[in-house]
Amino acid sequence: MPKPHAPSWYAATANESPARPPLAGNVEADVCIVGAGYTGLITAIHLAERGYKVVVLEAERVGWGASGRNGGQLITGYNKPVDTLKRWVGEDDARHLWEMSEEAKGIVAGLVDRFDIDCDLRWGYLLAGIKPRHMDELRLWQEELQGLGYDRTRLIPREEIRSLVDSPTYVGGLVDEGSGQLHPLNYAIGLGRAAESLGVVIHEESKVTRVDTGAEPWAQTDRGRVRAKFLVLAGNAYLGGLVPKLRQRIMPVATYMIATEVLGENLATSLIPPGYAVADVNFVLNYFRRSKDHRMLFGGGVSYSGLDRPDLKRSLRSTMIKVFPQLRDAAVDFCWGGHVAITMNRTPHLGRISDTTLFAQGYSGHGVALTAVCGRILAEAVAGQAERFDVFARIPHAPFPGPGPLKTPALVLAMMWYRLRDLL
Ligand SMILES: Cc1cc2nc3c(=O)[nH]c(=O)nc-3n(C[C@H](O)[C@H](O)[C@H](O)COP(=O)(O)OP(=O)(O)OC[C@H]3O[C@@H](n4cnc5c(N)ncnc54)[C@H](O)[C@@H]3O)c2cc1C
Repeated sequence: MPKPHAPSWYAATANESPARPPLAGNVEADVCIVGAGYTGLITAIHLAERGYKVVVLEAERVGWGASGRNGGQLITGYNKPVDTLKRWVGEDDARHLWEMSEEAKGIVAGLVDRFDIDCDLRWGYLLAGIKPRHMDELRLWQEELQGLGYDRTRLIPREEIRSLVDSPTYVGGLVDEGSGQLHPLNYAIGLGRAAESLGVVIHEESKVTRVDTGAEPWAQTDRGRVRAKFLVLAGNAYLGGLVPKLRQRIMPVATYMIATEVLGENLATSLIPPGYAVADVNFVLNYFRRSKDHRMLFGGGVSYSGLDRPDLKRSLRSTMIKVFPQLRDAAVDFCWGGHVAITMNRTPHLGRISDTTLFAQGYSGHGVALTAVCGRILAEAVAGQAERFDVFARIPHAPFPGPGPLKTPALVLAMMWYRLRDLL
């Protein structure tokens, strides 16, 4: 009997995913990957295609972490404008980073197509402005994208916005036809099957408790050990303290979603007629979309303390009703949360622990798309072609302020400031 997925609407509508036996005994591989989320699975797929023998160790189940619980929004670019990236890494690297972020969306589409992954992938995305100044921000974002040769966006004035999202909250927006949405857990389950079809071995319920990242690396679980030529650490926000050096560079932030009861096709369609995935432009943002079975999937609300907020379902529901008063009588059938890993500068953190051990983490809310290209370039780096990996590795990442227990209060203060700024 397979262990259930983490409870959510996604788990309730998950495609079949076979139970994989835990690791038992000693195993040899070319590459051992820790974590079966998008990063680990996509890296495994690209390595297997290059002929590597790959073993993936997953503490729980395929897609257990953020990959099986997220908002499913497949978003263009990074959490930061390319102009900001230029300041950190220079013009050339920033250009490469932009190109790789575009490549990422193509890789997702290609994987879904090639491996026939049933995950409701659809295109079209709306970034919605709440205050008039947001329209200036969206205009600047559009100009930047156009400067990069990206012409798939359209500014939406106040008069038109309600035909796209029937809410009194928004003053306009930016449609991006090149961003999209998918069922995140079914995408992860499909990636797991794809990896196995190429010969990758996945062990579930196999938590790695110790690693050796030296010249002959290994990963240890309570019942076995994998010796390999390379380790790839893909545990992201769920990796915990396995490698303390990685933990310092990310902050796991809890974020939440609800799914309403089935609303019926007419009501659901009237809320977002074109069926776009929608997010607002606040720093602590709300994001939402319609599900295939005509519910509202609504995400937002964060906790920096590592503790779930007790009034979660009620508070997220009341946020949703502010956006869509039409849903005041709709019951909420599902409520769940997960951990998203953010970095100080909100760009992904890739690098090497040693010559034999690579990692990727901290996609800062853009991992549905970016994990695809990061998985590919992790595989390239293992194969000795590290030029693209090194573009990412050159992004400077500061540790979060405050040692140990002070880290969270410092972040909470910083986030309160941003929240206050959103409200003002
Ligand atoms: C509620 C929520 C909403 C989000 N919405 C969006 C969105 O709309 N768009 C977007 O782009 N991004 C979104 N994100 C972020 C996105 O989900 C992540 O960036 C992405 O899934 C990261 O994938 P990953 O494979 O790196 O990590 P994960 O999916 O977290 O996978 C890591 C895996 O490693 C395993 N693991 C950890 N430690 C060990 C160990 N010691 N041994 C074995 N296994 C281990 C975990 O069990 C887990 O399965 C959201 C995240 C959350 C939580």
